[in-house]
Amino acid sequence: MSQDQVEILRKQVDEINLQILELMNKRAGLVQEIGQEKLKQGINRFDPEREREMLNLLVENNNGPFTDDTVRHLFKQIFQASLDLQKSDNKKVLLVSRKKKAEDTVITIKGVEFGGTSPILISGPCSVESYEQVREVAENHVKRGLRTLRGGAYKPRTSPYDFQGLGVEGLEILKRIGDEFNLVTISEIVTPSDLELAAKYVDVIQIGARNMQNFELLKAAGRLGHPVLLKRGLAATIEEFIYAAEYILSEGNSQVMLCERGIRTYEKATRNTLDISAVPLLKQETHLPVFVDVTHSTGRRDLLLPCAKAGLAVGSDGIMVEVHPDPDVALSDAKQQLNIPQFNKMVDDLLASGLYKQEIP
Ligand code: PEP
Ligand code: MN
Repeated sequence: MSQDQVEILRKQVDEINLQILELMNKRAGLVQEIGQEKLKQGINRFDPEREREMLNLLVENNNGPFTDDTVRHLFKQIFQASLDLQKSDNKKVLLVSRKKKAEDTVITIKGVEFGGTSPILISGPCSVESYEQVREVAENHVKRGLRTLRGGAYKPRTSPYDFQGLGVEGLEILKRIGDEFNLVTISEIVTPSDLELAAKYVDVIQIGARNMQNFELLKAAGRLGHPVLLKRGLAATIEEFIYAAEYILSEGNSQVMLCERGIRTYEKATRNTLDISAVPLLKQETHLPVFVDVTHSTGRRDLLLPCAKAGLAVGSDGIMVEVHPDPDVALSDAKQQLNIPQFNKMVDDLLASGLYKQEIP
């Protein structure tokens, strides 16, 4: 075959490509019309029986050289692309995304701005153990001008024989101390039916790493409309984390903060691997406040300060760190909680770094 003949055939192929393109777009237009009609009638857009009919018709009329399997495969792609086109814009542009809302979400609780111009330190014991224990931490918070107190009342522990938390009694302690010292309180809830009661006691509901994909809990937290701090799952991708937050927003609650708390990797030197790049990525992709939990990510007291600085340097809206009056006898996370003098030193060092400002002078 001469070069000229090849050129002639190539021209024909180009023409056919253009025809296929035109026909595919014409087909897409018709599918969109059907989609609109189905939407009006409230019918599901994906219709497997109809797909089967179309594939059978195509295979019956296949004269080759493509095999029947290839024809099925090619048309399945076209069907899928058409279905994707029918997804409403709402589903393509997530509510959590910057595309949906360009400006930062700022959540104001008891006068404290989460996601505002200054970073916030979320700190307190791993578990609420007693009124006295939490009070000691809260008194120090007030002295240091801190406004946010965390403490677990329901502890998701690896072993069922480990301390499981004080439950409602723990929430009551947080409420009492939050009121007494005018502190914003945060506590984890693990059961959807506990949410409503918990919202009466604490200012922010934490959904922990182990429950990031507990979709019923996420939906219930969305319906509740109370501020939520959502932590990244133990092995969750950023996409899965974003979709988890979307579950809450999709139920009408936009008061959501994200918290990077380290992910599981092969590295054993730290408890988890702090994914620092998650912070600017989440800030770019979403409009929600983003925090960095240095305690559960590193699991090491000696790394809390440098990782907190790193978190703030890459644009996080604040840091979570655990502090206990006597970590050696703590009922959970004894190894990595700071005692009060160590915590105060960390606050001093963060202030000195210029990355963190006094919350109340
Ligand atoms: C916690 O913050 O108390 C906690 C259990 O953290 P995570 O869910 O990130 O493990
Ligand atoms: Mn802990």
